Amino acid sequence: MGQPASAQRVGAQLTSAPLRPAWVEVDLGQLRKNFRLIHADKPSDVAMLSVVKDNAYGHGALTVARCAIDVGAKALAVSNLDEALHLRHSGIVEPILIFGTRPFAELPCCLEYSLIPCVDDLETAERLNALAAGNRRRHPVHLEIDTGMSRYGIRWDTRQQWMAAFQRFEWLELAGVMSHFAMSDELDKHFALLQLDRFRQCLDRLNTMGIRAPVRHLCNSGGFLDLPEAHFDLVRLGILPLGVYPSKVCRRIPGVSPVMTVKSKIMRIQNIQKGDSVGYGMRYRAPSKRRIGVMPIGYGDGFPRVRNQGEVLIHGQRTPIVGANAMDATMVDLTGLPDAREGDDVVIQGRQKDEVISVDEMAALKGTVSYEVLCGWRLRLPRIEVDHSTQAVESSS
Ligand SMILES: *Cc1c(COP(=O)(O)O)cnc(C)c1O
Repeated sequence: MGQPASAQRVGAQLTSAPLRPAWVEVDLGQLRKNFRLIHADKPSDVAMLSVVKDNAYGHGALTVARCAIDVGAKALAVSNLDEALHLRHSGIVEPILIFGTRPFAELPCCLEYSLIPCVDDLETAERLNALAAGNRRRHPVHLEIDTGMSRYGIRWDTRQQWMAAFQRFEWLELAGVMSHFAMSDELDKHFALLQLDRFRQCLDRLNTMGIRAPVRHLCNSGGFLDLPEAHFDLVRLGILPLGVYPSKVCRRIPGVSPVMTVKSKIMRIQNIQKGDSVGYGMRYRAPSKRRIGVMPIGYGDGFPRVRNQGEVLIHGQRTPIVGANAMDATMVDLTGLPDAREGDDVVIQGRQKDEVISVDEMAALKGTVSYEVLCGWRLRLPRIEVDHSTQAVESSS
């Protein structure tokens, strides 16, 4: 299959320029299916928040956000102010939570655009309270508790002091209380359960003070899958709706599969002789006559810098990468594929016929985790939205 004619072009591309022959395909049908399966798997009284930080892990924040809302997500979350503003400016009206901590300079913007900051210190709360008082409108915040991640959040064991202090802020609406797991997707759940226990202690303490946060949340994808006792009122899902699991060992939901495929084309075929070398550093020497295929994708696109490592899919077959790849080119040995021609499709990550190069396989090649593989495909690769479930063009409205 060539580049789909029905594809919706998105991202940082010049609208009229021909598409470069290397791109990221986002399957909207699969994305919708994943969200539906997750929604059906989840207890009905647990709300879903869609985490679309870093352009929804490279898939397109707006696309994922809209799909999530269509399928029933109640809120969205990002990590940066500009990510939140992008959603607002694109017409998203649902609640948007911003993870992490906000520099003071961003607080007026949070009020102006109805963005919900996570709050974990009194000075930020005080400033936000003063701004909200100026508007004479209470502003929602989520209180973040650190139960063991040691990143953001007020430490669970200092709760006595901060809870008393937090009650002073009459212009802040305590809309939620949250914490974050350090290890929810491994078989060993003992630390996750300790964090859950600490979180519960804090909630109990709030209760005895007469403070009840309407929305309590602790779970990311790993917690959602494997720790139902930690679901509380809402789960924050980033990677799972994209069809990728946080680890090899967590529970599977049948039918949830990857939304992203990374593709390119063979743009040149070189017939080389025994002893010829391929690529920078002459890392590959042909042991005999070889057919070398060249693809216009490289480490400048987020492909790892490899030397005679890794495979791609051509005609549904695994085909080895040869030599060291460059910023903009990667070479493969096509000798075993005599039918391969210039212009043929190449799958770098994803499925082609019956073969798959999984995100986990890419992660192993890169020496990293699935999360970084997804985020690692740079915007230099155009994002193309397809829908294999209907073969129809999706509206870009
Ligand atoms: C990124 C993030 C999530 C989503 O994690 P996944 O494992 O991708 O589901 C949830 N909560 C917080 C605080 C995060 O930073």
